Amino acid sequence: MKGTKNNIGIDVETPKTTCTDKKCPFHGNLSVRGQIIEGTVEGTGMIQSAVVVRERRVRIPKYERYIKAKSSFHAHIPKCITVAKGDRVKIAECRKLSKTISYVVVGKVNQ
Ligand SMILES: [Zn+2]
Repeated sequence: MKGTKNNIGIDVETPKTTCTDKKCPFHGNLSVRGQIIEGTVEGTGMIQSAVVVRERRVRIPKYERYIKAKSSFHAHIPKCITVAKGDRVKIAECRKLSKTISYVVVGKVNQ
């Protein structure tokens, strides 16, 4: 598929730069469907991918208190999006891109 898709079915801004990444939901032929998760980038050590952590509160009924639980996701970073550690990002589920990656970063969350 050629050209920029301005609407990928998710409420995010289309990146201002274009790229030639095949695994880009905006400029490549990667389609996104399924879950959309908001999280914080914990690391970008892998090539073109990030570890995104989502924190949530879990209620413990016995003590009527909450504990923090977190789950982490590996997500592909398209070439037109730059993320750094600590950024709040939105990731969308896509096809499996590698053994542990089935999400793609679709944009940053404005704070
Ligand atoms: Zn792109």
